[in-house]
Amino acid sequence: MPVSANLLGVKPYPVNLAWVGWASGRRKGRGLVSETNWAGNQTFTAERILRPRTVEQVQEVVAAATAIKALGSRHCFNDIADSPGGVQIDLAGLDPVAELDSEAATITVPAAARYGDIAGQVHAAGFALANLASLPHCTVAGTVATATHGSGRRNQSLASAVSGLDLVTADGELKTFSHHDGVVVGLGALGVVTRLTLDLVPAFELRQDVFDGLPWEAAYEHFEEIQAAGYSVSMFTNWARDTIDQVWVKGQGQPGADFFGAKAADGPRHPAHAAGIRADNCTPQLGVPGPWHERIPHFQLDFTPSVGEELQTEYFVPIGHAVAAMEALRGIGHRLAPVLLTSEIRTVAADDLWLSPFHGGDRMALHFTWRPEQDAVRALLPVMEEALAPFEVRPHWGKLFHQAADYPRLADFRALAVDLDPDGKFRSPFVRRHVFGER
Ligand SMILES: Cc1cc2nc3c(=O)[nH]c(=O)nc-3n(C[C@H](O)[C@H](O)[C@H](O)COP(=O)(O)OP(=O)(O)OC[C@H]3O[C@@H](n4cnc5c(N)ncnc54)[C@H](O)[C@@H]3O)c2cc1C
Repeated sequence: MPVSANLLGVKPYPVNLAWVGWASGRRKGRGLVSETNWAGNQTFTAERILRPRTVEQVQEVVAAATAIKALGSRHCFNDIADSPGGVQIDLAGLDPVAELDSEAATITVPAAARYGDIAGQVHAAGFALANLASLPHCTVAGTVATATHGSGRRNQSLASAVSGLDLVTADGELKTFSHHDGVVVGLGALGVVTRLTLDLVPAFELRQDVFDGLPWEAAYEHFEEIQAAGYSVSMFTNWARDTIDQVWVKGQGQPGADFFGAKAADGPRHPAHAAGIRADNCTPQLGVPGPWHERIPHFQLDFTPSVGEELQTEYFVPIGHAVAAMEALRGIGHRLAPVLLTSEIRTVAADDLWLSPFHGGDRMALHFTWRPEQDAVRALLPVMEEALAPFEVRPHWGKLFHQAADYPRLADFRALAVDLDPDGKFRSPFVRRHVFGER
């Protein structure tokens, strides 16, 4: 029996434009505020942001637009959500009701719902999402569009939980897709998703234990064991110090005081602890058990996640290259460390989604939280991509990177995009560069 809950009142981010009916507009150079992404490193160049209140209005807006892109909670670090000279469409004003179906073990959510908005309802019904990202602040649609992931040797990306979605395509038609591997990681290039159905698992509890100072030799020798030591495991490093700064083990059992040579932390840790950042915004650690949604994310919903003033990059390599990839990054660690706040090493299980970086095999995720020094970061990207080139590297779609990867189903995705959007109204410069290979 479906159960509904109203998520109204919880916005993905502060809405700072006045509502004008169901649409609000802005134009640069006319005294109105410029819109940026969460990090502030990307100023959007769309002419207008429209905020429809109904799916019918979404259909009207899409049908009328010549260039359009959906906007989630703006947590991407590049121009993936921009629509230069066109329209950005923000769905936060749509009906916020999420419907949980206990028999089917699914929840159908509005596209702009944040994971943090739906987690309580899911947990109260005795269910869980199999995995979450480091933060609960992002919209479900924006998260799955970029194949956002958490960690865990057997955990797939968050996009893998999508069993169906409703998509408004270029002509304004509302189409429903079920178990379609091409549409989920859509990069906003196929249309505007209005709602998604996510598979659920039974609710579970986890504890977080943090360990300081893992010897690199132990990480090399026992990489698989370390990553399998919990439901979700993360290692944090700046690639230049003699040991890995921290290991976070999110699991059900007590991992012991000595973890492959690392020692149990004597207090809560922020991922960037070594850079002097306090753990105030982090979820409870020190082995205290709690529900899945209060332990899997590193950061709490009511706080600014991560460091706040930062940029991010992430690369994925097949798990078989894990040790060689870590050695390669340590080889350039002296160049990375001055710009880094911290770097996180995780694992993500394989899926079949066409543009998922995890398509076709389990991967190690190599994430970088940078100081907000865009020029320095951009200069490092080709250096890092060259170091990781021997390892079939793929970048995170939503973070800063230099060169996109090839994917076995890329040609199929292009054909699907052209079929659903023949005039290319969703084909933004990001999509043209990184999906269609245009300069
Ligand atoms: C502090 C921080 C921590 C992070 N941690 C992680 C992490 O642990 N793991 C990880 O993998 N990533 C992580 N990220 C990256 C983040 O999860 C992704 O960038 C995600 O895509 C952001 O979702 P969003 O709702 O902000 O989408 P946006 O950035 O607003 O948009 C992203 C894409 O989704 C599309 N989109 C949005 N809504 C729709 C819709 N309704 N229909 C169609 N397309 C749509 C947009 O067009 C765009 O292409 C982190 C980012 C930050 C800032």
